[in-house]
Amino acid sequence: MKSGKAMKILVIGGGPAGLFFSIIAGRALPSAVIHVRERNPRGVTYGWGVAFSESAAGALRPAAPDVIDALTTNTSHDEMVLSLDGAGVPVKVGRSHLNARWSLLATLERFAVGAGVTVEHDCDANVTGSDLDDWDLVIGADGVNSQTREHFAEHFQPSVELGTNWLAWYGTPKHYPPSIILRNSEYGVLMAHASRFSAELSNFTVEVGQETFDRLGFAELTEDGSRELCERLFADSLDGAPLRSDHSPWFQTKFVSCARWTHRNLVLIGDALHTVHPSIGSGTRFAMRDAVYLTEALTRAGWDVEVGLKEFERVRKPVADAFQAAAKRSIAWYEGLPSRTITHPTKFALEYLMRTGRVSYRDFRRENRDVVLGYERDLR
Ligand SMILES: Cc1cc2nc3c(=O)[nH]c(=O)nc-3n(C[C@H](O)[C@H](O)[C@H](O)COP(=O)(O)OP(=O)(O)OC[C@H]3O[C@@H](n4cnc5c(N)ncnc54)[C@H](O)[C@@H]3O)c2cc1C
Repeated sequence: MKSGKAMKILVIGGGPAGLFFSIIAGRALPSAVIHVRERNPRGVTYGWGVAFSESAAGALRPAAPDVIDALTTNTSHDEMVLSLDGAGVPVKVGRSHLNARWSLLATLERFAVGAGVTVEHDCDANVTGSDLDDWDLVIGADGVNSQTREHFAEHFQPSVELGTNWLAWYGTPKHYPPSIILRNSEYGVLMAHASRFSAELSNFTVEVGQETFDRLGFAELTEDGSRELCERLFADSLDGAPLRSDHSPWFQTKFVSCARWTHRNLVLIGDALHTVHPSIGSGTRFAMRDAVYLTEALTRAGWDVEVGLKEFERVRKPVADAFQAAAKRSIAWYEGLPSRTITHPTKFALEYLMRTGRVSYRDFRRENRDVVLGYERDLR
């Protein structure tokens, strides 16, 4: 850090990565001037509810206990239901906490402002090489479609792989425990990921493979037309509840990774740098963990930006790479589903929970003895 001068930090993007970094950096270095530029108006974002596992909350809590406490008091679940063609298998899973994305961001922004950070909304920040000279440190936290990453692509050398499945992220007033709903239909395999995230609302993310997408003609439908068709396709599960759209177009996930993480005094974090996948429900935690690693590395380096950024990449990368490898296994499992036929609901539950390689058959059996004994009986 340059002596005698307050450090100037620009954060591009007021999502979980940018805001959480601002909070913990603002607290670690109260003299710093931290400025967040967010493209959206205050209170406007994409999506519905996001989950934090208890282990994710535990890993983040030491960095800002009050913030994590505020994010884990709303809706939580200890069980999930894997449902195949209407037959549901309830299984015990680690506790997860859910927040509406808009309230998660409002909470983070409140703490950021409390830490002395300025958050400017309606501000599209397109940083060029000469802008980097105006700041001591610039954080590119502008999400999966990061313009910062693309503008400096020759330095970051990003790889962006498009998933083969199509997803649409809806909400619904029906209360769902965390659920994966799979239906073998005449159009192919239909999937939905649902979970209640507030007193009033649940997520309902529909996922289909390319062939099913084409057979159902989703590409030709409007957003409302797609939503209505999904309501009909999942009518048995929704029990007459509507699906709600909030700018919920079909999309294919992007799997992002970067060969280099920094360029001069600019560093990428969160989805701008690397993604996981909605199916492992961990992108928010992954992004916020980047913020923790980055602040810790800078603190260890006495806020010497060059040293701190190198240290961030050295320490964070192996951990992040291992997490991305688990996400890849989850993606492969989901993308393989449309070409397979699963007929036993417990087999479906087992496969789902073991898909990333992080839960073994023994772990699953220990936590869900009755479910597994029933399955083993059926196999005899
Ligand atoms: C269907 C779906 C379900 C998901 N479910 C979960 C879940 O259950 N649990 C979980 O942990 N994660 C989940 N995720 C992933 C999670 O939403 C992301 O991984 C997480 O939001 C990444 O945080 P971020 O701060 O890096 O990026 P973002 O949250 O995308 O934030 C980036 C911010 O930058 C702003 N921005 C972009 N460009 C500019 C610019 N040029 N100037 C200024 N601002 C800009 C954007 O408006 C945005 O506010 C899900 C994602 C999807 C798509």
